[in-house]
Amino acid sequence: MPVPKVGQRDVLIKVRIASICGTDVHIYDWTRWAQYRFTPPRIIGHEFVGIVAKVGPEVSRVKTGDRVSAESHLICGSCYQCENGYPEVCRNFKLLGVDHDGAFGEYLVLPEHVLWKNDEKIPDEWATIQEPFGNAVDTVLAEDVSAKTVLILGAGPIGLFATGIARTCGASLIIVSDPNDYRLAIGKKMGAHIAVNPRRQDITQIAIEATENNGVDVVLEFSGNNQALNQGLKAITPGGRISILGVYEKRVSIDLNKDVIFKKIRIYGITGRKVFSTWYKTARFLSSGLVDPGPIITHQFPLKDYEKGMKLMKDGKCGKVILKA
Ligand code: NAD
Ligand code: ZN
Repeated sequence: MPVPKVGQRDVLIKVRIASICGTDVHIYDWTRWAQYRFTPPRIIGHEFVGIVAKVGPEVSRVKTGDRVSAESHLICGSCYQCENGYPEVCRNFKLLGVDHDGAFGEYLVLPEHVLWKNDEKIPDEWATIQEPFGNAVDTVLAEDVSAKTVLILGAGPIGLFATGIARTCGASLIIVSDPNDYRLAIGKKMGAHIAVNPRRQDITQIAIEATENNGVDVVLEFSGNNQALNQGLKAITPGGRISILGVYEKRVSIDLNKDVIFKKIRIYGITGRKVFSTWYKTARFLSSGLVDPGPIITHQFPLKDYEKGMKLMKDGKCGKVILKA
């Protein structure tokens, strides 16, 4: 591909590391979602860290040589949501690596207003995962978790980041659940007190027994699995909350009367990250040493070996896989 052109307010970035997200695997696999949502040719990849190589004449936020990552929701900044404090649900946003050429290449170009200047204390291998880490920050911190009991459904990279965040924010009990034992083992390293495999164990029953039959205060949903969502709703104590980041393949069915209304459950839908308040929190969790994402970053390959990374992601014998330039 030719080096992309830089517009007035654009920035050319030389990619150092990009990490693989489930979205990239969907596109690579050409799933039904990808066929409907994605129009080739397009460079994929939206989690990255790189160095500013060139700036457009009107750019003021960053300069050549700065080490940056980016908010992957390319927001417009001027719609009703952007102007009312909800840029994460911008009406006109474009997705990096889906609607705009992404980071699995030598260079990418982005408008300056989505760039995030990286804290020098954060190594490249961690800077690249700030985007999904931010998803976990918003899911965990939709409400306070200190001295609360927490059930985490799904120990993919984001559920695992959430485990570390919840632990550091003072959750008194963290139960993590996933059918993948490899990922459950990482969950334990990240601070989970109990790891549950739903293929062999009953998540709801374990959560209720571990909380003196009260049920957990907080459920964090990262599995995108209908059954897990329902088990989670049944495991919440009346008056508790659930935050849902997981995305479901089909419509889900829940018992709204019994599991939500008469239990007075608060449900938060979480999408993207808050621009940029979540990025500040993410950088502080990582730069201060409050959360060590090291155990989650399980594999590193040169970009040319991306196929190995994609295969690992499909097999699930991995946490986060990163690709180095
Ligand atoms: P992932 O696919 O790596 O992780 C999902 C995990 O859930 C897997 O480890 C899987 O084994 C596990 N799982 C499957 N069935 C389960 C069950 N019954 N009980 C418990 N766990 C089960 O995904 P990720 O990258 O960690 O992302 C987590 C979820 O968040 C995904 O659904 C993803 O699509 C979604 N997501 C949403 C947003 C958003 O803005 N809302 C952003 C990024 C990702
Ligand atoms: Zn907008």
